[in-house]
Amino acid sequence: MSDEPLDLDLVQQALARWGEPFTPEREHAFRQYGQLLLQWNERINLTGLAEWSAIQRRLLVESLALLPWVDRACERKTPCRMIDVGTGAGIPGIPIAVVRPSLAITLLDATAKKIRFLETVVRELRLSNVVAIHERAEVLAHQPAHRGRYHLATARALAHLATAVELTLPFLARGGLALFPKGSGIEQELAESQPALALLGGELLAVEPLPLADLVGTTSTLVVVRAARPCPAPYPRRPGIPAKRPLGEVSRKE
Ligand code: SAH
Repeated sequence: MSDEPLDLDLVQQALARWGEPFTPEREHAFRQYGQLLLQWNERINLTGLAEWSAIQRRLLVESLALLPWVDRACERKTPCRMIDVGTGAGIPGIPIAVVRPSLAITLLDATAKKIRFLETVVRELRLSNVVAIHERAEVLAHQPAHRGRYHLATARALAHLATAVELTLPFLARGGLALFPKGSGIEQELAESQPALALLGGELLAVEPLPLADLVGTTSTLVVVRAARPCPAPYPRRPGIPAKRPLGEVSRKE
C-alpha cells in the first residue's frame, strides 16, 4: 500500500452538507479507519470493494448519509443507545461513532475476525463510545441487557428486509427507529416484508431516496421503521431461521 495520505474529499463534502465541521480529529479518525480497512482487507475479507475511492463513497459517505435520521432518533436521549446489526467492517456504525461521540454504540457481528478488526479500530481511534460484540443477533436480542434497550438500530446489507426487521426490531425500545439503507427498486421487497413488520410491531415511517446520492454515486433507498409496539417474545427465532424462512414466507407456506 502506498504511503500517500488517503483522499477524504467526499467525506469532507458529506459533512459540509450537514453543516458539520471537518475537524483535524475527525480527519485523523477517518484516515486511520481507512488505512486499517485497506490493510486488513488484504488478509481478511472485510469488504468486496478494493479501491479507496469506492470505499470512501459506498461505505463512508453512505454511512454519513444517515446522520439526520440518527439525530432524529437520538433527540433528547442521553445517552442515545444505538446498535449496528451485521456491522461487518463497521458500516455504518464506525463513521457514525466518529461524528457522534455522545452515542453509546454497540457493533454486532457473527464473524469473529470482523470483531477482531473492529476492536483494533476502537482501540486505535480511541472510540470510548463503541463496543464490538461477537454474537448472532438471534441470540443477543434475547438477552435482557440488549432486548428492547436501544433507541436506534441500523442494518446495512444484512439481509432481505423481512429478515433484517426480525433481527433488529427486538433490540428497540418502544418508539425506537431502525434504519435500513437499501438499493433501488425495492417495491417487491417492501411488500414481502409487510407481514414481518405487522407481526413484530414495526411501522413503516419512511421510504425515501438515501441523501447524498451525488456523492455516493449510486441511487439507494432508505427504509425507516419505527418500533410502534413491543416485539413478541418468540422473535427473533432460532439462529438461521429468520434468513432461511422469512416471516411472510412461513405464513404463506403454512
Ligand atoms: N453492514 C456492513 C456489512 C454487511 S455484510 C456493510 O454494509 O458493509 C453482512 C454482515 O452481517 C456480515 O459481516 C455477517 O457476518 C453479518 N451477519 C449476518 N447474519 C448475522 C446475524 N444473524 N447476526 C449477526 N451478524 C450477522
